Amino acid sequence: MADSSNPLAGLDPEQAAVVTAPAGPLCVLAGAGTGKTRAITHRIAHRVRAGHVRAQHVLAVTFTARAAAEMRARIGQLGAGGVQARTFHAAALRQVRYFAPRLFSGREMPELLDSKARLVGLAATRVGVKIDGTGARDLAGEIEWAKSSLIEPADYAVAAAKALREPPFDAARVGEVYAAYERVKRAQGVIDFEDMIRAAIWAMEEHEDVAQQIRSQYRHFVVDEYQDVNPMQQRLLESWLGDGDDLTVVGDASQTIYSFTGASASYLVDFKRRHPAATVVRLIRDYRSTPQVVGLANTVIGQARGELSRLRLELIGQRPAGPEPTARSFPDEPQEAAAVAARCRELIAGGTPAEEIAVLFRVNAQSEVYQEALAEAGVPYVVHGAERFFERTEVRQAMIALRVATRSLPADAPLAESVGQALEGVGWRPAETPAGGAAREKWEAVAALAALAESMPALSLEAFNDELARRAALQHVPTVAGVTLSSLHSAKGLEWDAVFLVGLAEGTMPVIHARTPDAVEEERRLLYVGVTRARHTLWLSYAGARAPGGRPRRASRFVPFLEPGRAYEPGRRPAGNARPGIGKGEVVARVRRTVAVSCRVCGAGLLSGPERKLGRCATCPADRDEELLARLLDWRARLAAVQKV
Ligand code: ATP
Ligand code: MG
Repeated sequence: MADSSNPLAGLDPEQAAVVTAPAGPLCVLAGAGTGKTRAITHRIAHRVRAGHVRAQHVLAVTFTARAAAEMRARIGQLGAGGVQARTFHAAALRQVRYFAPRLFSGREMPELLDSKARLVGLAATRVGVKIDGTGARDLAGEIEWAKSSLIEPADYAVAAAKALREPPFDAARVGEVYAAYERVKRAQGVIDFEDMIRAAIWAMEEHEDVAQQIRSQYRHFVVDEYQDVNPMQQRLLESWLGDGDDLTVVGDASQTIYSFTGASASYLVDFKRRHPAATVVRLIRDYRSTPQVVGLANTVIGQARGELSRLRLELIGQRPAGPEPTARSFPDEPQEAAAVAARCRELIAGGTPAEEIAVLFRVNAQSEVYQEALAEAGVPYVVHGAERFFERTEVRQAMIALRVATRSLPADAPLAESVGQALEGVGWRPAETPAGGAAREKWEAVAALAALAESMPALSLEAFNDELARRAALQHVPTVAGVTLSSLHSAKGLEWDAVFLVGLAEGTMPVIHARTPDAVEEERRLLYVGVTRARHTLWLSYAGARAPGGRPRRASRFVPFLEPGRAYEPGRRPAGNARPGIGKGEVVARVRRTVAVSCRVCGAGLLSGPERKLGRCATCPADRDEELLARLLDWRARLAAVQKV
């Protein structure tokens, strides 16, 4: 059996090439589920364990706290604890906080704004623009895009026109609101998320000693999901690097889903041009999903148009066959949700753990009807997006109450009882579950603390508080085991045995405000991200109306096989959308190629026709000669490592 803590075990030759590539710029371009994250975590662990780098000199960056926490855990399991894996924001926050007295003239770091919308509304009023809550949110989105793209208020109108943005009203006026927002923010002594990253950049650009200190701390950088980096984050990365070049980036242009907030896949695509010495490795084998799921993913992304579509990579499934994806349509959303809940129950009854199931939707508002349906069906669920769990007001209040309770409660009381009592002290009522919305989310966040206490009866209240502090530092969210309810955006990088992609109606997918062709393409990529989250069971559905008797809606243009009353025919390409130049023979060949045949000696998939007959790679020895095989794999890894674009 492969040694799970050995960073070189369980990798294919290309992944091994990523792990053993020499120090310096390295770019891994690969499709969903091909083991990009696995390869880079193994690379970090390998370099640390081999003594090439010191754990505390490595900074791994990704986009969600959950992904960062998983990365830390994976590297730790591989025997290389102590590596920092953070989001761009968390890494910048830490640095800005550390240097705050210098950067903010002796004061502490200003408070971080949770959401821009309120101040944007205020700024709009100041410059005589009338907007409602939705308008404020749209404007906040524009300001976020501009700030992430390093565009100042005075340049907004020109830049927005160039980027084909569709601001909610006259671009010059938007620029004025943006300028007023900056003034209001300064007057209130608060900063937003972009300011924080800018502060980190500015700290290094303006203070040579700060830059030196940060660069001597971090010398080796790894960025996962690099296709979603925005100009501001890229500049931060460049500031961190200074003259250094030990940078590994990993990404998939087909999974670019944040360009509306300023992300640009061009940094990934142009990496080799910016770093001519870079080693480039491509991975193509999909280890996550069944060939059926992979086939559908290839179909969805195969329809892509526009610039990024040239960069799509056809995935080749390595896993054994599974069920065909199911496509269903329903008269209305409550019926769709009830059917999803019933199917979840069946899956759980059939042995699929609830935490191995996810219901993914385009907009958070869709979550509620699923929460109700799952609750009704008695299926436990967890609302994802809990990345900033420990920053939630109610969680912070609850933690303070728990600290106080170690003094106001008897030390020998059972933990669950003390915790329950302390939480009730801050207004939490275990029996009064709110029906939905923000109140329900708050209730659940506190309920998760209570559930955690119940699962650790041996701890004293004091030890429990220490455990919470430890988890807060690690951003380890205490959740009850349940079906995950998540937006497609926050499902990025994750995987489940069974995935339900729901609400696939025009107006929701693509979302109604995706008006430009580029915006529609981004929606298609988002669906591709959704499809590729499933390991085994995949369900797609939509409802013909939101509520019973409501305005009729059509199925999403991305899944035209989702027609009411019509069953999904596996493998059928949507009519009129077949890709030109693919004859029947090629289709058959592609289908064959997607069926995994692995080499019985080295385990690699992707055998060519004659090799399939042999049952092994042409270069592999006929029998498993360990020594010969080890040399061969080393040779292949080196060969792949020098592969240049
Ligand atoms: P995404 O683009 O969605 O982020 P990814 O390319 O980062 O995907 P991973 O999450 O690293 O892919 O891997 C996908 C799944 O395949 C994981 O369950 C991983 O453990 C598994 N996997 C990766 N490489 C191999 C391999 N060589 N052998 C077996 N399983 C593998
Ligand atoms: Mg990944």
